Amino acid sequence: MDLLNADTYLCPENIQTITNWGEGWTWLAGGTWLFSEPQPNLKVLVDIQKLGWDEIEVRENNLIIGATCPLIKLFQYPYPETWTAISGLKSAVTALAASSKVVNVATVGGNICLALSVGTLAPVMVALDASYEIWNLPGNSRQVVAKEFQIGHKKTILQPGEILRRVLIPLDNLQWQVNYQRFSIAATDPALAIVVTAKNQQQIRCVIAASVTAPRLVEYQDLDRENFIEDAKASANYRRHITEVLIQRSLSALCNS
Ligand SMILES: Cc1cc2nc3c(=O)[nH]c(=O)nc-3n(C[C@H](O)[C@H](O)[C@H](O)COP(=O)(O)OP(=O)(O)OC[C@H]3O[C@@H](n4cnc5c(N)ncnc54)[C@H](O)[C@@H]3O)c2cc1C
Repeated sequence: MDLLNADTYLCPENIQTITNWGEGWTWLAGGTWLFSEPQPNLKVLVDIQKLGWDEIEVRENNLIIGATCPLIKLFQYPYPETWTAISGLKSAVTALAASSKVVNVATVGGNICLALSVGTLAPVMVALDASYEIWNLPGNSRQVVAKEFQIGHKKTILQPGEILRRVLIPLDNLQWQVNYQRFSIAATDPALAIVVTAKNQQQIRCVIAASVTAPRLVEYQDLDRENFIEDAKASANYRRHITEVLIQRSLSALCNS
């Protein structure tokens, strides 16, 4: 779709060449979302694909995933077999497989920063206790844990001009067992509920998403405190019930793995 109000396209090879930021500016990654619907307030597109931020590498006890890493690369990368938790990331990408165009072009950073309530990667990142490295235009960086990044449907803690640079997953956590469950009315519909559980020797982490506006790390007995989405697709009660069922399925699959 043409973005009729966008009149400027920038494609920096170095992020430091972007020194100002204003109303109507936006980062452009794969563009699968930005070009999928009208963006009346969008004036300047800053394409980040030439920054060379698509790495998958190990550094300082973390798996590093660059923000512009395409989902298809995340899926196909030859990881060590001992990294059992990678199956959770692969399940998250498979959940989008109804649209191979999106999976081939969309990026890890785009999926996380778009922050849809149905976002597929974020709950896995929360379950694995990942962190996100965020850069700002003056050249400073900060790290935030994944569970604090998304604060609602299409809402994150990013400030104007801030950009997600990379995702960091502790290597130890990649050896956890992970289970990903998703429910939608039809396979190609947006999810009504997503549950991701992760288990190591000490703990089981349970993350709910899609039934709430942002991924939530929960104790099962705390579910009554969650604000489930109520809309034309499903009631809050229905979403709570489906979430409970998925938690049971996920925990049962984890225990049998
Ligand atoms: C019809 C349709 C259905 C979809 N259904 C689902 C679904 O069920 N589940 C799901 O998870 N996704 C879904 N998506 C979203 C899809 O996964 C996204 O389009 C994709 O992840 C966005 O990635 P992108 O790289 O193309 O981002 P873009 O479209 O380029 O950008 C998306 C947003 O993220 C911002 N952004 C991108 N990269 C960064 C960065 N590094 N730092 C800061 N901000 C950044 C952009 O400014 C923009 O606001 C759907 C998309 C379409 C078109």
